[in-house]
Amino acid sequence: MSPRAKHVEPVMRALARAIDGLELPAVEKISESRKEDPFHVLIATLLSARTQDATTLAASTRLFEVAQSPRTMAKLTVKRIERLIYPVSFYRHKARHVKATCRLLIERFGGRVPETMGELLTLPGVGRKTANLVLILAFKSERNICVDTHVHRISNRLGWVRTRTPDETERALYGATAARWWPSINLYLVTWGQNVCRPVYPRCGECVLTAWCPRVGVARTARTTAAAPGEKVAV
Ligand code: SF4
Repeated sequence: MSPRAKHVEPVMRALARAIDGLELPAVEKISESRKEDPFHVLIATLLSARTQDATTLAASTRLFEVAQSPRTMAKLTVKRIERLIYPVSFYRHKARHVKATCRLLIERFGGRVPETMGELLTLPGVGRKTANLVLILAFKSERNICVDTHVHRISNRLGWVRTRTPDETERALYGATAARWWPSINLYLVTWGQNVCRPVYPRCGECVLTAWCPRVGVARTARTTAAAPGEKVAV
């Protein structure tokens, strides 16, 4: 197991305070409004990949207004699902995955969302990110970390991990962070990534984490073009 990363404790405490009042990520909002229903969390997470939060929220709402359960959603044609979820990215692929997932939930799992990582990964379009988020939000797992592009990017900028892919980051974070933070890492870092530590031009000048952040890989920030510590500014 890799050694614990530095400053996880103060960073997570600072984020807990700082995200209070910021807009929640779309799937968190849907989970809250749908009383953590596993099926709704699963479908909303499938729709959310590479899609703006506002689009995910609107598409999920339209779909759930027409079909609330795997049985009713499985009866929709792929074309109908496409029209309901458009313009989420890859809406044609996602519509097929939604329909196939509903069928499998009915055929193999009695119309319920399974509660194990292994079973969730058998569903079409479900990868570790989706499975982890379903386990955390819907089944209240405290043993999972959900890593998307925000968590991957910020964990590397903070120097907690040194990884190339979200899957590598997930594995590394289990060793680098204390277990009590695992269920919160996604909510805190995604919210921070959408508002402050953005993919390009992060707002380091306004960030509450500057005291603990080495800004690994950050060449330019939103407010100034000054180089991050120890790094050259690209010209
Ligand atoms: S200081 Fe900059 S790079 Fe570090 S977490 Fe904050 S915004 Fe991101």
